[in-house]
Amino acid sequence: MTTFLLHPLYLLFLLLPVAAWSGWLIGRHASARRSGARTRELSSSYFRGLNYLLNEQPDKAIEVFMKLAEFNRDTVETHLALGNLFRRRGEVDRAIRVHQHLVGRQNLSEDEKTVALLELGEDYMRAGLLDRAEALFDDLVAMNAHAPSALRHLIAIYQHERDWHKAIEHARRLEAMTGESESSTIAQFYCELADQSRAHGARDEARDYLDHAFACEPECVRAHMIAGHLLAEAGDHPGAVEAFERAARADVDFVPEILPPLLDNYARSQQMDRAERFLTDVIRRYQGISPVLALMRLYAKREGERAAVDFLTRQLRQRPSVRGLMALIDATLDKTEGEARENFLILRDLTRKLLEGQAMYRCSRCGFGAKAHHWQCPSCKNWGTVRPIHGVVNE
Ligand SMILES: [Zn+2]
Repeated sequence: MTTFLLHPLYLLFLLLPVAAWSGWLIGRHASARRSGARTRELSSSYFRGLNYLLNEQPDKAIEVFMKLAEFNRDTVETHLALGNLFRRRGEVDRAIRVHQHLVGRQNLSEDEKTVALLELGEDYMRAGLLDRAEALFDDLVAMNAHAPSALRHLIAIYQHERDWHKAIEHARRLEAMTGESESSTIAQFYCELADQSRAHGARDEARDYLDHAFACEPECVRAHMIAGHLLAEAGDHPGAVEAFERAARADVDFVPEILPPLLDNYARSQQMDRAERFLTDVIRRYQGISPVLALMRLYAKREGERAAVDFLTRQLRQRPSVRGLMALIDATLDKTEGEARENFLILRDLTRKLLEGQAMYRCSRCGFGAKAHHWQCPSCKNWGTVRPIHGVVNE
């Protein structure tokens, strides 16, 4: 969406009203010879501006459209389009001035005024003036004008401020207004609250928030994982194993996050046979390397290094992986000496360099790449969209 918003075609679309106005001007003045020259000037300016936009020269386009707006101060659409252009180019101060000018005008219709207010609110958000933006969006919701958009902006503000209670309250209002479920997002907000409580050692409170999260989304991976951590911290390791296994069943893509605490709880509850069954099953359903490496380590402990290396070699033929190769080199290193060992050390160094700086996760919505997992995409702010990248140099 963001990419599209920056696209010249979108800007062109924004300026369609200007085109209509320009065309109307041409028509109106066609019979009036006196103003013929000015009309020609306006329409030629308009098309010049359009040309700049299409050639991705927004600086020059803005200059031309600014002049057009001066010619006709009553043209609301031109001002809105200009304000949008400024904001999207990061010139928030100018965007605010354009939109404030619009809001202050006497001759606007109610709808035009609320559209301008909505735009002004977005300017304030972009400028980091969240209090002003919040007050403005609150007013729009109270007026029932563009309320769904205003609510979405308010939710974004509360997420930014980590005010999860208000985020939940407004997400519920949005649900009621649009009839579209916000359940999985609200479940994430409850998980945030549960995480906060857990960090303060308030386990009962955390458990209450998780109940709310499960009520929104019964198979919420993150809620299952927090439940697992809470049980482990209370010393209930078999219970924690159950919770983490449920998380993996709910969405196998989160296995790289689930495995470390799950393996720890298998060990603490002495359920290594169960660990083997789980990993064997997950390998069939998940194409990444993490569970293969975990199973290899398990075989190394139980059946010795030879069996582990055999297993890993078989797996790597089916799913080539630099991380797998590194594990193979590490396992082989101790058995070699002299020149062969030197070569293995060089190889290990090279594979480590190959992995350096590689993104292990990517947002399925906006393509943002990350080395660590995020529940909320740092770029597009969607929840649960950051997933492991399955590739030779990734997961
Ligand atoms: Zn994203």
